[in-house]
Amino acid sequence: MIAPASDAWDVIVIGGALSGSATARLILRRNPTARLLILERHPHFKRRVGESTVEISAYFLGRVMGLTDHLLEHHLPKQGMRFWSMNAATSSLADCSEIGPGYNVRLPGYQVDRAVLDEHVLQLAQQEGATVRRPVKVKHIRLTPGGAQTVEWEDAGMPRLSTARWVVDASGFAALLGRQEGWHRPNLRHPTAACWTRWTGVKSWDDPALAAKFPAWSARCRAIRSVATNHLTGYGWWAWVIPLRGGDVSIGVTFDQRLCALPPGPRLADRLKTLLLTHPAGRELFSAANCRDHDVHYRANLAYDSTTYAVDGAVLVGDAAAFMDPFYSPGMDWIAFGATAAAALISASLRGEPAGPLAAQYTQDFTVAYERWFRALYLDKYYYMGDHELMLLAFRLDLGMYYLGAVQHVFRTGPSGLETPGFARRCAGGPAALMALYNRRLAAIAQSRRRRGVWGRRNTGRYFPFTSYEFNARLVPRLAAATARWLALELREGWRTWFRRPSHATIQSQLPASALRGSADLAAPLPARSR
Ligand SMILES: Cc1cc2nc3c(=O)[nH]c(=O)nc-3n(C[C@H](O)[C@H](O)[C@H](O)COP(=O)(O)OP(=O)(O)OC[C@H]3O[C@@H](n4cnc5c(N)ncnc54)[C@H](O)[C@@H]3O)c2cc1C
Repeated sequence: MIAPASDAWDVIVIGGALSGSATARLILRRNPTARLLILERHPHFKRRVGESTVEISAYFLGRVMGLTDHLLEHHLPKQGMRFWSMNAATSSLADCSEIGPGYNVRLPGYQVDRAVLDEHVLQLAQQEGATVRRPVKVKHIRLTPGGAQTVEWEDAGMPRLSTARWVVDASGFAALLGRQEGWHRPNLRHPTAACWTRWTGVKSWDDPALAAKFPAWSARCRAIRSVATNHLTGYGWWAWVIPLRGGDVSIGVTFDQRLCALPPGPRLADRLKTLLLTHPAGRELFSAANCRDHDVHYRANLAYDSTTYAVDGAVLVGDAAAFMDPFYSPGMDWIAFGATAAAALISASLRGEPAGPLAAQYTQDFTVAYERWFRALYLDKYYYMGDHELMLLAFRLDLGMYYLGAVQHVFRTGPSGLETPGFARRCAGGPAALMALYNRRLAAIAQSRRRRGVWGRRNTGRYFPFTSYEFNARLVPRLAAATARWLALELREGWRTWFRRPSHATIQSQLPASALRGSADLAAPLPARSR
């Protein structure tokens, strides 16, 4: 039996992790007297993925959420991204081809422990006026466009009912409202899966013993390698290595299920480690590493979006809205845009502006942003994931376009620059199309290289000491130079595929029989689970 409605609110936020508590704080900042309730399922946050910021998410956490001191005291500063590739000729870590900053990076970034960060942001939301109920479980939301929304939830087994003018769904992968309303849509063009855990006993990239073993390798890089997000890459997969404050290291792999699978084995953690040890960098760093028990997770079919992101009375933020891919760590950028736009929308409505058109605009912006963002960076990228030469081109172009468009805009405009996701801005159509074009072409060239047996030919013995981009007169010429390199590659090699229709591997056909033994779970689309 459901108890009678006991409370009425201006806003109810479902989920108190980063996207929920950040949205709550931004709403309260604009409307200090708003009655805002946060309903969170867990009594304490556990560790979760989403541990690496990039330029926009670091800006959002540091300058918009005001967390710079917290980030410096309780987390680690990040020194950019590094990529390590290999081929049959790579015998040691020092042989791997490397891409990464030669010196420390220019803009701030952090490696965060999400259990600590999310707890802190939720606490701040509470101090700033939000009422928090946890652990409670939201069961159902009854939407009344333009009216009072009804949220059914359970507190220690007791049914409760609350109403609010606005509901913010920040329930993460559970995507409560999207699934309930039939808005949730798996992205079948991108069948990626991930497996992750936290490890102890991982050797540091800056270990003096390693420097003694590989002196030239150590001396060529002046940056701190160990606090970068280090990426181990192979055909169709990449693994992240993210250090956490206190010594644990977050390591996980993401792969395209059409191109590869986890090796067989009885335990998920062992299968992950077996894959990591196929890489010379993995063998050097992880041989003595052990994973934290009860912290091994697996999720298939990571990508999804939503046909609707807001209606008059409800708005989706963070993972409850959509997810693309963990490569380049865009998750908290997506949260920064969603939280800021949702707070602006709800604040306008609480001020009396008609919400219908604003909600329609929110849906339009996030629909456009997701599609452009996905096609520009992720569609079929795993065909060239792991090929040093193609990855280097993509990295220089992708990062340069990010700086030229989104990052520069946010730093110059300030927090209001986050109200529209970068890819949804009117001026972003042309650049997004260019990015989608070179991404598509690099995938086609990679497929041609596989057919010709030359994929990954530069994966041994190369080092590219990247110089961080800055907002200065060199940014455009550097991007132009990277574009010229891509065009030269087209003339040298790309012509082979100009008139060839792209063919896509299917999940079943590409899996070697050995990969399927003992891992039937990887052969077909799976629901998310963890163990
Ligand atoms: C493999 C992988 C690696 C990633 N790496 C990165 C990275 O390096 N950097 C990055 O920026 N992003 C990364 N991401 C993305 C990032 O994890 C997410 O974008 C981010 O954690 C989403 O935060 P959120 O607050 O939206 O959702 P969540 O963190 O999932 O929080 C949702 C909250 O809702 C609560 N909840 C759920 N259901 C209910 C209910 N019925 N009632 C009440 N409460 C409920 C949950 O308890 C939870 O606290 C990665 C994602 C994956 C899958």
